Amino acid sequence: MSAMLQDTNSTVVGAETEGELTDGFHLVIDALKLNEIETIYGVPGIPITDLGRLAQGAGMRVISFRHEQNAGNAAAIAGFLTKKPGICLTVSAPGFLNGLTALANATTNCFPMILISGSSEREIVDLQQGDYEEMDQLAIAKPLCKAAFRVLHAADIGIGVARAIRAAVSGRPGGVYLDLPAKLFSQVMDAEAGRKSLVKVIDAAPAQLPAPSAIARALDLLKNAKRPLIILGKGAAYAQADEDIRALVEKSGIPYLPMSMAKGLLPDTHPQSAGAARSQALKDSDVVVLIGARLNWLLSHGKGKSWGEPGSKKFIQIDIEPKEMDSNVEIAAPVVGDIGSCVAALLAGMGSSWPAPPADWVNALETRKEANLAKMAGRLKKNSTPMDFHAALGVLRTVIQERPDAILVNEGANTLDLARGVIDMYQPRKRLDVGTWGVMGIGMGFAVAAAIETGKPVLAVEGDSAFGFSGMEIETICRYNLPVCIVVFNNNGIYRGTDVNTSGTSDVATTVFVHDARYDLMMTAFGGVGVNVTTPDELRTAVDAAMNSGKPTLINAVIDPAAGSESGNIGSLNPQSIVKKK
Ligand code: ADP
Ligand code: MG
Repeated sequence: MSAMLQDTNSTVVGAETEGELTDGFHLVIDALKLNEIETIYGVPGIPITDLGRLAQGAGMRVISFRHEQNAGNAAAIAGFLTKKPGICLTVSAPGFLNGLTALANATTNCFPMILISGSSEREIVDLQQGDYEEMDQLAIAKPLCKAAFRVLHAADIGIGVARAIRAAVSGRPGGVYLDLPAKLFSQVMDAEAGRKSLVKVIDAAPAQLPAPSAIARALDLLKNAKRPLIILGKGAAYAQADEDIRALVEKSGIPYLPMSMAKGLLPDTHPQSAGAARSQALKDSDVVVLIGARLNWLLSHGKGKSWGEPGSKKFIQIDIEPKEMDSNVEIAAPVVGDIGSCVAALLAGMGSSWPAPPADWVNALETRKEANLAKMAGRLKKNSTPMDFHAALGVLRTVIQERPDAILVNEGANTLDLARGVIDMYQPRKRLDVGTWGVMGIGMGFAVAAAIETGKPVLAVEGDSAFGFSGMEIETICRYNLPVCIVVFNNNGIYRGTDVNTSGTSDVATTVFVHDARYDLMMTAFGGVGVNVTTPDELRTAVDAAMNSGKPTLINAVIDPAAGSESGNIGSLNPQSIVKKK
């Protein structure tokens, strides 16, 4: 199992003994494998080319990307899907910086990942003497991740990897940086001593039990609620406590709202889902249970108009991070611990009979939900050419309904906002999207990792603008022959394709792309399947064929350039000038 040096390298010039030797390259690989890390996402180059090569030779899956940001996003979402840190491997300075966006995004989203970057020599970097790709990477990474470590001696690789793994997955998960200078890789040491220096991390993410008094306080508050609501966030999806979460929701009878990446924890068609009555549920509830969801901008910070009258609400919050409590509003009943343990304790505390929530509250939400769903059903059936967003999404909604184990990756502005509402999810951790930052560019990295980690078919629903940030990775998808179907919602631009340049110069407007671009032809360039579709029926046929065959496919879905609104649902965050200048 252990990756020994090849025979040709096993004697080192000037070495005193000719015993079995190992080196930095092999120790890094052995340390990862010892901790059951089987996959590396990265981009080869100086000084880590041989690390990737040797890792592949040692039986790891090494997936090479075209840009480090996409490899980093793949590693981050692999961490979310598996609860093991996803590994991203990059070259020094520029490659490291490219990976850093993904590392910061992973940390923001509480996804465990480790960015491993090769770096230049300390002696030269620290004296700023101008090395190849010179940069003090450790210092730069530090504020953007949970923890950052550098290993200088081969004998410390085991400890360095162990610390990185613990830091990534324990407590609130997040991104970790591991700096490995070029010289480390070729450092040679006795193989037996090397083996002994490795650490198999025991209980990397220990259970954190909530205090019994915190559970009692929460249940007290919940029992007396008139209009209770549960909000499930992606922390709940990450925790993989699916059965207990479902039991808690069903035993309590409380209506629930899933945040976007918590969709499918219970099927969106569940009778207690208040997803289609979201505004009313937020506004009129009196006790809200947050399970792995933060009161950040995505929930209007727990205050303001969308939350109804000031003081009308009390919050119970379950989170592993104690400092999350009271971050935006007062939390009346903080429950600090891991979600699995907290939910189990709540269930136990509820005993064998728990009062159902008042019927008038449940019925009010049900009435609103039915009205909203009926309104949407009509829009989804429209068979217009060119298609609008709803006509195209109605098709994709059916595709996922028929294949509930497929993974949906989703980014864009309107493409994101509308798909989130229209496409129902049926199983946990099947919807992967732009997350806490609302960042564009996660698409192809997430799609690759979703296919690699789960072996399930992936449907990536992409705005034409969003797709551009990671589009070159369709070559990666074709190279590894992954079962990924990408649907580009092509409306010729950012938000819309109809913007005009008012300056009189010949440039097109700033939000407009090449009209009638054929993204499908990019896919055929790499041997994948490319299809251009203009109607819902054509879209249906093309997606079905792709999902059934598992062949890498890109469908260019022509969307009305006039469809779509500025910044999608979050136009209010995009300041617009009202000053008219001559
Ligand atoms: P969403 O965007 O879906 O609302 P957030 O990313 O805002 O979700 O919130 C996720 C929360 O879940 C974070 O506050 C994080 O600390 C918490 N969390 C993540 N994993 C666990 C876990 N295993 N147990 C408890 N809390 C967790
Ligand atoms: Mg667009």
